[in-house]
Amino acid sequence: MEKILEIDDLHVHFSTYGGTVQAVRGVNLYLNKGETLAIVGESGSGKSVTSNSIMQLIPSPSGKIVRGSIRFKGKDLVQTSKKEMRAIRGVDISMIFQDPMTALNPTLTVGDQLTEGLKQHSSVSIGKAKKKAIEMLRLVGITNPESRLKQYPHQFSGGMRQRIVIAMALICEPDLLIADEPTTALDVTIQAQIMELFKEIQDKTGVSIILVTHDLGVVARVADRVAVMYGGKIIETGDKDDIFYRPQHPYTIGLLQSVPRLDMKEDILQPIDGTPPDLFAPPQGCPFTARCAHAMQVCANVHPATSYLSDSHQVECWLQDARAKRQPV
Ligand code: SF4
Repeated sequence: MEKILEIDDLHVHFSTYGGTVQAVRGVNLYLNKGETLAIVGESGSGKSVTSNSIMQLIPSPSGKIVRGSIRFKGKDLVQTSKKEMRAIRGVDISMIFQDPMTALNPTLTVGDQLTEGLKQHSSVSIGKAKKKAIEMLRLVGITNPESRLKQYPHQFSGGMRQRIVIAMALICEPDLLIADEPTTALDVTIQAQIMELFKEIQDKTGVSIILVTHDLGVVARVADRVAVMYGGKIIETGDKDDIFYRPQHPYTIGLLQSVPRLDMKEDILQPIDGTPPDLFAPPQGCPFTARCAHAMQVCANVHPATSYLSDSHQVECWLQDARAKRQPV
């Protein structure tokens, strides 16, 4: 399979009055053309910082990519100038954020907002831009697109507004779409519709998608592969079935056990006790040591190497490494 994106040894730090936050600590990831990769984890695990790094949207000067490369179609985005990145954003790579209202300008019609990106990045005529806008609204399931182009964002429901945001992100036909918690602000029924829409659009356009979410239900619905982040690192990655049916990292197993299912009584839900590691002073060993029921002495001192369980499935945990002496902490 052709890889459209490869992230290698990415480290991102933020300088604060309290010290340096090591938000992303050596992330390695790839995305195949036409697939959906979900990056999952708790708040503060580094998933949004990783996806924002792809777009060079790390707030400067406090945030900085201190090491690593992000190769998009062979080009290292970390080394790309701001001017070049402006040309790449919205055209080759688009991003959708959580709240559709922050992405839409309440004072402009939906038609003006849809055609704005197209006119900015190409010398397309007004007539052609309008035709493309209508086509995109139809693609995202908005009926009567010709008349709705003249309406303002407040005349649409929350779910419809997110559909418009998706249309805006796709109007320049990007190769990569990054969606950061795209349905969190929506109710459950609309969430399901939007997730179905992502799949339909991918089937029609072949766009590759990175989906950043804490919602495993969303992941189960649309992802091809899953990367689980914890403490600024990818601790397990695999095909969707690897992660949902054969999870190996104790944190991934904990995440799955903490998700309510229809066939489960509420009192069987098992939250993960404890809190995430302090990324001002990250642990030198496995970041999950303080919360892990299987922790051994080696876990606190040395970070586990990557274990390759199959071509698709990788995990960073000493339980998979025969060299670990099974001495409990
Ligand atoms: Fe638990 Fe050790 Fe595995 Fe970390 S490396 S998840 S502490 S067993």
